[in-house]
Amino acid sequence: MSQPRPGSAPGLNSRAILDYCRSDVDGILDSLRRAVEIESPTSSKPHIDRLAAFYAGEFRRLGAKVRVLGHPTAGSSVLGELFSRPPGPRQQAKPLLLLGHLDTVWDVGTLARMPFRVRGGLAYGPGILDMKSGIVCGLWAIRALRALGHRPARPVRFFLNSDEEVSSVAFRKQIIAEARKAHAVLVLEPAVPGGALKTARKGVGEFRIAVRGRSAHAGVNPAAGVNAIAELARQILRIETFARPRQGLTLNVGVIRGGTRTNVIPEYAAASIDVRVPRQRDQAAIKRRVYGLKPIHPEARLEIEGGVNRPPMERARAVDLFRHARRLGEQLGMDLKEASTGGGSDGNFTAALGVPTLDGLGGVGDGAHAVDEHVIIRELPRRAALLAAMLATL
Ligand SMILES: [Zn+2]
Repeated sequence: MSQPRPGSAPGLNSRAILDYCRSDVDGILDSLRRAVEIESPTSSKPHIDRLAAFYAGEFRRLGAKVRVLGHPTAGSSVLGELFSRPPGPRQQAKPLLLLGHLDTVWDVGTLARMPFRVRGGLAYGPGILDMKSGIVCGLWAIRALRALGHRPARPVRFFLNSDEEVSSVAFRKQIIAEARKAHAVLVLEPAVPGGALKTARKGVGEFRIAVRGRSAHAGVNPAAGVNAIAELARQILRIETFARPRQGLTLNVGVIRGGTRTNVIPEYAAASIDVRVPRQRDQAAIKRRVYGLKPIHPEARLEIEGGVNRPPMERARAVDLFRHARRLGEQLGMDLKEASTGGGSDGNFTAALGVPTLDGLGGVGDGAHAVDEHVIIRELPRRAALLAAMLATL
């Protein structure tokens, strides 16, 4: 597949774009505040729908053709189509996909104790970094291009997913379909603290292992029982040997449950395991090993389910885009670095298709999923300008 070709669009004045974005920091911040103040936990469809409607309005104000994609149980997603061309030869240009998500990990009511607030050059609030700031940067990138009369050579499609924080089940097909059509995918997840872009992400998986044993009275008839907890404990020690931390393949047995009373030999125990894989080939290998587990106690039974649900985003898919972003960043006075992360995003799906994908283009700050979640305000116009320059030159 064709890689994005680095280069500058004729007449692109990145300083002018930056000046435009900087001149409207108040506008950026106000739009961010309004988004943060619409709480949007993945689990609450009415809340996500409200935020979807808010962004649909923002897209329309930018002249986008907007589709709100409904779902019977999950919140709605939003697709904005911008810079589409009239029929003609250039219509064939593959679009650029801006990818964001509406949902946050914060329950309704969080705002009451963690309100949007600005202090010391930082803006705080639930979901502000992950990723409402990224969406705002995307909006202002388009605004700046429009205001300065730049027309990107490619159409831009801006997709806001509603359930990224729970592995993107509801609209995964649509995300994949959008990515397949795209020349490149720019993911608006936050930067690594410090500002680095994300060129690699590990794949993420979850396995669940249940043990069926046999209950018995622990005092009267212990030999009749098959202790499911003891079996599971032994299996966990085996599972831990599957990790290859030096290569970045890690496992965490994060949840375990089983048993009823101390005087009952437990017939059931289960564990959930988080798995992170750096390369696509690790994905099949770890699955084979977990599903290959055999009972140690001859009368115990194992039930295994799960697997890797987000494939790794390998650096090869991002490196050309990163170099391009780095060059544009230099024109904007930014010294952009690249980094990899163990966390997954929707970029994992798009990169796994072989589509060039660069992630971490959203806000810069710290505390994603934590009570001190915040963004650095002066970085917002710079990130918006960088996105605008990317859209104009890819
Ligand atoms: Zn996110």
